[in-house]
Amino acid sequence: MNISEIKAAIDAGQIVHWSHTGYVVSRDNAGQYLITYTRNGSTIGLTNKAGTKLNGNEGDFFIAEPSEPVVKCCWMCLGTNVQLDAWLAWDLTLQTWTFAPKIGSAVCNDCDIETVIVERPASERNIPEAETESEGAANEQAAIAEDQQALQRAYFAGGV
Ligand SMILES: [Zn+2]
Repeated sequence: MNISEIKAAIDAGQIVHWSHTGYVVSRDNAGQYLITYTRNGSTIGLTNKAGTKLNGNEGDFFIAEPSEPVVKCCWMCLGTNVQLDAWLAWDLTLQTWTFAPKIGSAVCNDCDIETVIVERPASERNIPEAETESEGAANEQAAIAEDQQALQRAYFAGGV
């Protein structure tokens, strides 16, 4: 993608990556196009100061494919009743706490242990053994997992 193709895609609301999905190209409030490394928030301009040369090869910029939704699971039981500790850092500009790049430990509420989170396509989420038990119990488990996820979403949406 060349400079104008990248800018046009972003202006049209598409997500543009450089090199891999860890880098996102965006436009800030001042109208500057930036490449951000999402893991640590570090940023460079999309182009040189004059706006004539990309900071990267044209071939390394690409538009994100719409991705299939995923669920985050416990690697032991593949259940979704998992939680992640997060860290907050004080943002001087916004005058509020924002999520820091640092991520703490993960816990599975079903295994009741510190776990490792794995990702699975959301379409595969209904395979676990829980379903071989009575359907009532499985449904109840699913409902609990849903509630837990709703809570997590609310938490990560910045309800702090
Ligand atoms: Zn588990």
